Amino acid sequence: MKEILDAITSGCASAEDFAALRLPESYRAATLHKSEADMFEGMASVDKDPRKSIHLDEVPVPELGPGEALIAVMASSVNYNTVWSSIFEPVPTFAFLERYGRSPLGRRHDLPYHVIGSDLAGVVLRTGPGVNAWQPGREVVAHCLSVELESSDGHNDTMLDPEQRIWGFETNFGGLAEIALVKSNQLMPKPEHLSWEEAAAPGLVNSTAYRQLVSRNGAGMKQGDNVLIWGASGGLGSYATQFALAGGATPICVVSNPEKAEICRRMGAEAVIDRSAEGYRFWRDEHTQDPREWKRFGGRIRELTGGEDVDIVFEHPGRETFGASVYVTRKGGTIVTCASTSGYTHEYDNRYLWMSLKRIIGTHFANYRESWEANRLVAKGKIHPTLSRVYPLEETGRAASDVHRNLHHGKVGVLCLAPREGLGVRNEALRAEHATAINRFRTPAPAPEPVEV
Ligand code: NAP
Repeated sequence: MKEILDAITSGCASAEDFAALRLPESYRAATLHKSEADMFEGMASVDKDPRKSIHLDEVPVPELGPGEALIAVMASSVNYNTVWSSIFEPVPTFAFLERYGRSPLGRRHDLPYHVIGSDLAGVVLRTGPGVNAWQPGREVVAHCLSVELESSDGHNDTMLDPEQRIWGFETNFGGLAEIALVKSNQLMPKPEHLSWEEAAAPGLVNSTAYRQLVSRNGAGMKQGDNVLIWGASGGLGSYATQFALAGGATPICVVSNPEKAEICRRMGAEAVIDRSAEGYRFWRDEHTQDPREWKRFGGRIRELTGGEDVDIVFEHPGRETFGASVYVTRKGGTIVTCASTSGYTHEYDNRYLWMSLKRIIGTHFANYRESWEANRLVAKGKIHPTLSRVYPLEETGRAASDVHRNLHHGKVGVLCLAPREGLGVRNEALRAEHATAINRFRTPAPAPEPVEV
């Protein structure tokens, strides 16, 4: 692994040099163990601790198949799917690996351990048969859409492929590791003005927010739209806020503390709601919502917009907020949802939907093209990474725990092969232009916490 790292950090190794590097037999990876899939049984979600389930193991390098690439991973990042995997909710990810394992090439993925992680920035080490566009030595990021495209269903929109999977969540050999296996169609050029850990941060959430908000497959946001963004300083929300601002819309950012409100203002948002300070309680009890609270929330939005309602709600909290989201959307407006963090069974008053001709759109990650377009915006310095903290690979469990407990801002990064932060910048001039924006979310890592065993 040292030879690989030396070649990457030398900055002058050629494609031939990389192709001639010896591949190690094994590599270090953040893993979950199939034998522990029931370790949190009977516990409330909040008490399930990713620091207990995520391990650092030495695992064999997987066999490279046609159309695939092995990547030396310099940095990765934690996504909420890292949290779902590590608490084995809603189902252990081993169920996905077993299903994938029924196909001849998928068989490699069905193992007693799962290397997780759906983002990476790194360098191509080897490519399999049929890969022409990418050579060893190319500096890349990878989006997380894995598809087979053998059915026509996915030929217009690759997200509609019946064999659509999220790499590092529904497949093995993910990005929270020193080496990752991807399909070469996942590869995209690494934005040159970013360090490895900054480049690894946007991937999954940036692409998802792009489809959800900007693409015609999602809400198709236009200039002048008012966009209500839940969790506006979180993973998805920090990109949705940037897309709204860059696209001439007005974000109305919802967050849960003054620090997060300040981050939204630093991004350029003017309308910010601190849901904790303003004490919204959309549910009176577990079964009953409170429409007066929806109304109070809608009134607050109108105060901030000069009397207007929102054209689009960028939804992901789910059960807790969905009734309010449907209520506050303007006549003819759109609620676009990609998740249900607080619960999958949504309840809303349908009169506010049909009488006001609103639409609910379901969306999930992004197709090949949308991922590429979203990455291009980062590469051009129009959308910026929202990296707050960075942990070493050994502390992936802690990084995931921060996200699980909602202690983080924006994205939490993980250094894999990169020995320290700040490496990998190839375009200093472009970086200098955007240095403030790139560093907007940065916060130092807190002191280590003891884990209860
Ligand atoms: P994140 O970084 O944790 O950000 C989510 C933010 O939502 C939190 O910071 C929090 O912000 C807010 N939030 C959480 N619970 C809430 C509640 N009950 N009411 C109101 N706001 C709440 O996570 P993320 O990366 O943005 O992901 C969010 C969800 O989307 C997860 O469930 C994830 O699995 C899903 N997701 C789906 C896709 C897809 O392709 N379908 C892609 C990415 C993510 P405040 O506390 O500041 O309000």
